[in-house]
Amino acid sequence: MSYSQSNNRDRFSRGRSSSYGGGSRNKRRTNQYIDPNKFIKTAKMTEAEVYVPENKFADFVVDPLIAVNLKAMGYELPSPIQDKTIPVALTGKDIVGIANTGTGKTAAFLIPVIDKLIKNRNSKVIILAPTRELAEQIEEQTRAIAKGSGLMGALLMGGVSMQPQLSDLRKNPQIIIGTPGRVKDHIERRTLKIADVNVVVLDEVDRMLDMGFIDDITEILNATNQDRQSFFFSATLEGKVRTSIEMFSKDPVHIMVKTGDTSDNVHQNVVNYNTKDEKIQKLHDILNDDNVSKTLIFDDTHHNVERLNDELRSRGFDSEAIHGGKSQAQRQRALKKFKDSNVKVLVATDVAARGIDVADITHVVNFSLPQTYQDYVHRIGRAGRAGRVGHALTFVEQRRNY
Ligand code: AMP
Repeated sequence: MSYSQSNNRDRFSRGRSSSYGGGSRNKRRTNQYIDPNKFIKTAKMTEAEVYVPENKFADFVVDPLIAVNLKAMGYELPSPIQDKTIPVALTGKDIVGIANTGTGKTAAFLIPVIDKLIKNRNSKVIILAPTRELAEQIEEQTRAIAKGSGLMGALLMGGVSMQPQLSDLRKNPQIIIGTPGRVKDHIERRTLKIADVNVVVLDEVDRMLDMGFIDDITEILNATNQDRQSFFFSATLEGKVRTSIEMFSKDPVHIMVKTGDTSDNVHQNVVNYNTKDEKIQKLHDILNDDNVSKTLIFDDTHHNVERLNDELRSRGFDSEAIHGGKSQAQRQRALKKFKDSNVKVLVATDVAARGIDVADITHVVNFSLPQTYQDYVHRIGRAGRAGRVGHALTFVEQRRNY
């Protein structure tokens, strides 16, 4: 695909597949016991601090085309992570950014990377993300920021047909965006050569490690030019994440932006139930509540997600389901309907919900308990985005409620 004026999104054909980008590599984790009291908390209604950036976009010495595109995208001022990352990245240093989705981190790396690629047509970047949805979001922003540059790109992810990817790769694109599994497949088939890749971006490193991608990532990064610039973004910098980043980077500059704990602005409560009938009836009542306008419901398996979605539809709710057993095209359709508010309820497994960036979710419902407390925090962070107050309701079987 070419980042010229045309928007050739349609060139991706969406094949049917039951595999999920990374899902097959998911490590099975055993359920952790979580004290139900941890699911109860009142949101802190703190006023978000207004950030005053040190730089304006015009202060960054980047190709004028990028400035024009940012303006067209409606970006007026750099977000904190952009304000701090872009000047350092433009000096060529490695960056470790501690930031979550929603902070503007995608443009924080895309602006300096695209500038580098425009200035040096022999430069090549590989951007790895843990999920297809995230890879697509990155590709969308690349399309907007690189518009008119003539740069070529390829979006390599599982669950869709290989053909458009092969055709894009034959044009020797400077921008490779993908999920680790499919990128590795292409390297093994020799349809992608990355020895000349001199910029790498690992987005959401912590999630990629969590999803068992470490071996694929190691293999991919070892095959790139070792004299490269690297960007790492992660929500945390603990344990495995730190070790992996140290292994792959050279004297990186650490950039951390102060963001409140996302769960701070989420009202959290439990819904107790005794029987399955009572459980579904309570969910029914919640969805009928006037204050509940957009709800993301988590259930544990593909099968249960499907069953719950069918049940809700039979009760007259407009809902959609996403899970790793659906094709990428089906997942995209469902997510789009939810984003566009054509359906107000989305039922999902944890894996399929990663990377969902829907600003106006009012309620997250844990119809099944999360496997770990970390998963819980991740789930409820889908509500109460962009400074709004969200709500999280967790169903707890009464006998477990000690
Ligand atoms: P991200 O954290 O990169 O997923 O970005 C979250 C959202 O913020 C995306 O919809 C971006 O298009 C948007 N965004 C990023 N940077 C800016 C900016 N400087 N001004 C306005 N919107 C932005």
